[in-house]
Amino acid sequence: MYANELRSRGLIIEKAYISGKWQDFDDKIEVLNPATEEVIGTIPNTPIDSVLMAIKDSSLAQEKFKHSTGQNRHDLLVSWYDNMMKHADDFAKIITLENGKSLRESRAEIDYAAGYLTHFAKEALKDRSYEVEANQIFSKRKVDYVPIGVTAAITPWNFPLAMITRKAGAAIAAGCSMIIKPSELTPYTATLMCKLLIDSGMPENLIQIVTGYPKEIGEVFQNSFTIRKLSFTGSTAVGKILMRNSAETLKKLSMELGGNAPLIINESSNMDTIIKMVLNGKFRNNGQSCTAVNRVLIHENIYDKALENIIKTVSKLVVGDGFNDDTYLGTVITETALNRLERLMQIAVKQGAKLELGGKRLGNKGYFFEPTVLTGITNNMEIARQEIFGPVIAIQKFKTDNDAITIANDTDYGLAAYICGENQQQNIHMANSLNFGMIGINDTRLSDAKIPFGGIKNSGFGREGGEEGIFEYIETKYVALN
Ligand code: ADP
Repeated sequence: MYANELRSRGLIIEKAYISGKWQDFDDKIEVLNPATEEVIGTIPNTPIDSVLMAIKDSSLAQEKFKHSTGQNRHDLLVSWYDNMMKHADDFAKIITLENGKSLRESRAEIDYAAGYLTHFAKEALKDRSYEVEANQIFSKRKVDYVPIGVTAAITPWNFPLAMITRKAGAAIAAGCSMIIKPSELTPYTATLMCKLLIDSGMPENLIQIVTGYPKEIGEVFQNSFTIRKLSFTGSTAVGKILMRNSAETLKKLSMELGGNAPLIINESSNMDTIIKMVLNGKFRNNGQSCTAVNRVLIHENIYDKALENIIKTVSKLVVGDGFNDDTYLGTVITETALNRLERLMQIAVKQGAKLELGGKRLGNKGYFFEPTVLTGITNNMEIARQEIFGPVIAIQKFKTDNDAITIANDTDYGLAAYICGENQQQNIHMANSLNFGMIGINDTRLSDAKIPFGGIKNSGFGREGGEEGIFEYIETKYVALN
């Protein structure tokens, strides 16, 4: 119903945007609504020669755009923001249709995503250049920051809008062109976003969208010497492939990869704060976010009470179609994701975990998974090592601060970590001892355009947003004058 209405208004765009026009190709990929398993529409698989054409045109666009002023870039980002907010309701529906999250969460994503445009509009106005003291050879010395050149982005399905604006916003602010390959699971958010940017007065081919099969398009990006920067958000496994294959062209990379966030619940924790952190930290986007709480560590002295409250709260969560008013949790993204979660539950139980709640698919139509609570987890179990990426709370018990810190740090990932407790001195001591890129104390809602988002170790490198975000798209250039 929503799909037809949105399509008839030209808001579901089943094409790629290359060389200044919307283009269709014979080979098509179907896009499903994960709540109904119905086909929403198709997108074309962009052939390699058209991806190469996009790179060529991106280079021409870049040659012109690099001369734009900070004010030009600011104004473009602001009108893009305005256009996006005008279409917030339509966008939210498209995100819910193709991603399966609740409308409430889709709306929250629009605000989050649009926040990157206003943030980078301001960043575009900053003059970062500086003078270096003269020496005996040079009377004038200056350090400038210049656009890195043609850039590309490969983006995921979990936040189909925000993961694009945080890259494209920074690229535009820096003076770069960009070619975006959105996830083939959620392409319509990307094509609508591109249409709104065109309507906002985008210089020709500044941003282009190539839809299609990831491996083939990814390889063209990796092998292109013209593309000087590739920004990726997605799984660690794919990030490593991209990095390996980008070596030959020595392009700059940013890698926002998987996470394995611990939530340490100290003895002094307030019960309401525990529940708030578990709900927001675990169930945002149905657990399908790289900052999602993956391991809950509870101090033994409050373990029973906290567990009882968590189970009571989680058992009341309403799972359903994202368009229903009472839906709290939507779907997981695909049938493959459902099967993977079920398998992960079986392995956990086999390895000694206790299933307290949920644990399997809900119904037989749509990719719904029961909100799940597992206890008796130890850090060597599969479920504690892997990124769960679903509505599953995996709980461990700890005795001392040092135990909690050791368990929390015992992971190859390093994106986000969370601490709950009323003793701020203890919290800060713990935060200082945790090896993660971002730490939230008494709240898990870390993400915002103004902060440098990113991780360490297997969670990748580079920062998006904050004052750091633009540096991913600029080069340092030193000029000395005799
Ligand atoms: P997830 O496991 O969360 O779906 P992926 O890493 O598979 O994450 O997907 C994130 C993005 O990476 C998507 O746009 C997807 O199409 C793309 N992708 C997947 N495999 C490859 C690949 N081999 N090369 C390039 N991009 C890929």
